[in-house]
Amino acid sequence: MSKVEPKGRREFLKNTAAAAAVTVAPGVMLHTLSANAAERTTAVTDNVRWGMLIDANKCVDGCNDCVAACDKENGLDLVNKPDGADDGLWERQRPRWIRQVKLKDNLSGKITNLPMMCQHCEKPPCVDVCPTGASFRRADGIVMVDRHICIGCRYCMMACPYKARSFIHAEVAEKLTHTPRGKGCVEACNLCVHRLDNGESTTACQDACKHQAIVFGDLNDPNSAVSQALKKYPSVQIRADLQLNTGVRYSNI
Ligand code: SF4
Ligand code: SF4
Repeated sequence: MSKVEPKGRREFLKNTAAAAAVTVAPGVMLHTLSANAAERTTAVTDNVRWGMLIDANKCVDGCNDCVAACDKENGLDLVNKPDGADDGLWERQRPRWIRQVKLKDNLSGKITNLPMMCQHCEKPPCVDVCPTGASFRRADGIVMVDRHICIGCRYCMMACPYKARSFIHAEVAEKLTHTPRGKGCVEACNLCVHRLDNGESTTACQDACKHQAIVFGDLNDPNSAVSQALKKYPSVQIRADLQLNTGVRYSNI
């Protein structure tokens, strides 16, 4: 994941550590490390498995804060609807790494909201079908796409049972350096991997949720908040029948 940066650039990044983002040229933003963050210097291992628990009872109908935060964190909000494009088509095709799924119980009328993103499957069908190896799973459980070798065939989108991946249909003029994006590639939630590799421990969606519906952390650490929450509350995997051992779990659905 990490790449060797020239010393001058490393120094620049250190010196700008207090800022969240810096514009270095029109349309080019540098997202920098937070003040206390430390860049990863060791290989990713399976000592950690990142995951989250989402409490559907706490997710408020009509709230979109996690979606907006994800868009901003990853630069998805930098791309606007092309002039003259159909609104409906734009909404259906625009890349979204989290979306709100609404379930209605026909007997009680109860509405349940599920923030739905890549479930970071232990046995990911997207990885199984990818002909180039662009879809891969890191040792710490994060499933990602290497955009340099993604050929845009979209097999992974067809294979994903959670409809978690998006295809980039149009040229991307503006992007963040930690989230390189380009026309013809597939992308999905990566659990804010750039934050984790910079020593941070939260995701943008978790930080944005005022209702504490999202608990993120290390599933392998029995003392982490997410492990404690999983111990305390009954939870399920969506489509548990597929036996994918998802890293994202839900309670109260
Ligand atoms: Fe792959 Fe979909 Fe599972 Fe994510 S949810 S790991 S994209 S199969
Ligand atoms: Fe792999 Fe890209 Fe094809 Fe998905 S679209 S299967 S990541 S090459």
